[in-house]
Amino acid sequence: MKLHLKVMLFALALIGGALAANIYFSRAAVSEAISAQIAEAGEIAATGLFPAMREALNARSEAEGLRALHDFSRRTGALYAALVLADGQVVAHTNVALAGSSMADPLLSRAVWSGDIAFLRSAVGEGDLREETVETLIPVPYEAPPSGESLIFEGIPEGDKFAGFLRAALPLAPAKKAETDIGFKLMIVALVISAATLVISALFIRLILRQVALLSEGMMKVREGDYDVSVPVVSRDELGEAAESFNKLSRGLAETTVSKEHLDSLIEGMPDPVIIAGLDGGIIRANRAAVLFSGYDFKGPEPVALRAMLEPEAAGAPHPCDLLEKGAHIRELDLLLVASDGRRRPAMLSAAPAGDQLVVVLKDTAQHKESEARVARYLKEVERVNSELDSFAHTVSHDLKEPLRGIEMFSGILISDYGASLDPQASDYLSRVVKAAGRMRRLIDDLLGYARVARTRNPYERTSSAGLVAEAAAGLSALIGEKGASVLPGGDLPEIFCDPVKMRQVFHNLLSNALKYNDAPKPEVRVEAELFGQYWKFSVTDNGIGVPPQYSEEIFKMFKRLHSRHEYGGGTGAGLAIAHKIIEEHGGRIWVDSEEGKGSSFRFIIPAAPGKDREA
Ligand code: ADP
Repeated sequence: MKLHLKVMLFALALIGGALAANIYFSRAAVSEAISAQIAEAGEIAATGLFPAMREALNARSEAEGLRALHDFSRRTGALYAALVLADGQVVAHTNVALAGSSMADPLLSRAVWSGDIAFLRSAVGEGDLREETVETLIPVPYEAPPSGESLIFEGIPEGDKFAGFLRAALPLAPAKKAETDIGFKLMIVALVISAATLVISALFIRLILRQVALLSEGMMKVREGDYDVSVPVVSRDELGEAAESFNKLSRGLAETTVSKEHLDSLIEGMPDPVIIAGLDGGIIRANRAAVLFSGYDFKGPEPVALRAMLEPEAAGAPHPCDLLEKGAHIRELDLLLVASDGRRRPAMLSAAPAGDQLVVVLKDTAQHKESEARVARYLKEVERVNSELDSFAHTVSHDLKEPLRGIEMFSGILISDYGASLDPQASDYLSRVVKAAGRMRRLIDDLLGYARVARTRNPYERTSSAGLVAEAAAGLSALIGEKGASVLPGGDLPEIFCDPVKMRQVFHNLLSNALKYNDAPKPEVRVEAELFGQYWKFSVTDNGIGVPPQYSEEIFKMFKRLHSRHEYGGGTGAGLAIAHKIIEEHGGRIWVDSEEGKGSSFRFIIPAAPGKDREA
């Protein structure tokens, strides 16, 4: 019920109550006054008859009393009249049958007690003859004997102030109309006053409740999500203050709250499917992307259950909803989405509870999965081609070595057997053939060595890198001696998990390069190691000729050399390519830091902890 209705009803009840009480008490007062007037008129009418009545009372004489009573009835029109003693005994009654009876009642007691007129409204007669009267008891005064000494001194004894009572039913009819008129007028006046009061109350209520109505309007708007509301302040009282506080509050809300529409448009505009579900898994809403992805429109009368829409990726795995129901935050869980047409689509789910709801974000991983499978296929293909290439290189090298050996052998025989008979030009050509064949053999050997890296798999084991360096240096002792060089392994070279044969080859190649490409009067090669995250980082540092920066990557390619065949010992350009391949096979990386003319640091990293696949 509206507040103004409540207040109006309250005012109405108040005014109605006051009106009823007013009419009731006013009418009672009027009727009392009229009754008193009638009773007093009766007393005045009886005044001249008091001596006769007193006589009759004193003498208990009915006949005498009746005369006085009839006189009285004539004067007043009383419906009956009687002379009654204080104890109620009827001395005379206009209805003679009642003479000698008792008329003791509360009205008589009241008259005896007060010694004054007593009256009350009553009705006399039955049916149509019933008439409203004023039942009146008028004391008949006592009269003292003219010279009673005792009376002079003692006064009239109590109870003897009157000789008895004249009891009569005085007619009300003549005054009744006046009484009704007064009552009616009283009612009219009261009604007019009430109506006026009601109108004034209504105006007053309207005035007070205007501010309340404005406030409630403002609250409705806030409830509907419109926070930027300002309620007009129309009263300068507590309600006005409340309106001002409300305005401040709504301004604060507008500044700090993200409106529902804004949130809705954000969710709707998300490119990934977003689903909001109750904690029981019933879907409350879903954005457009979710509709497109799943095929459900989520607007049918039957709510779609999240449990029916999701399936674990692997059979037997726990259902994603079991995790969600435990209130778990889930990040990027691979699963299958069962679309409306029953198709299973790979998806990735992230979800988090938000109050009594769940926010679920899905990602279509079909493309991702496809590309993953494609990459795996390509990798397999590359591996296959690589191994084919390796075995091709191996076979070709092997097959080439055979005729080459023939060329070398027969060229040698030719030189030794027919060298003297050949002219100088021919013997020069022949020696060039021998050299070229020798070089070709070295190239083929290196190519075979390179191919062997991929073809041979030695077991990985814990190996002292200091030991490997020492062995490599021992293999190069002739060159070290020849150059007057020194190889200085660091004191903290670690134990590493590797293929020791191949790793020795790496150190050999790096050390031999550091010695070869070195013009320093006292070549110096330092080998050091340090922890580098989860890797060991080795550095082979020399004080040689250095590598020009533009070749720092080129030199790791097969047969790539920076110098002519005759300079720096004439290698084939396979050493660094082989080292590169071995380090990569160990899960590491190799590179060079160098300053031309000052030296080079060849560095490589390999995992410090053994890889799972190699540990076995
Ligand atoms: P090579 O058989 O020619 O030594 P590598 O593959 O070992 O083949 O080296 C490739 C090229 O890299 C070399 O020809 C050389 O020019 C350069 N190189 C390698 N190590 C060093 C080094 N320590 N200092 C300077 N240059 C180097």
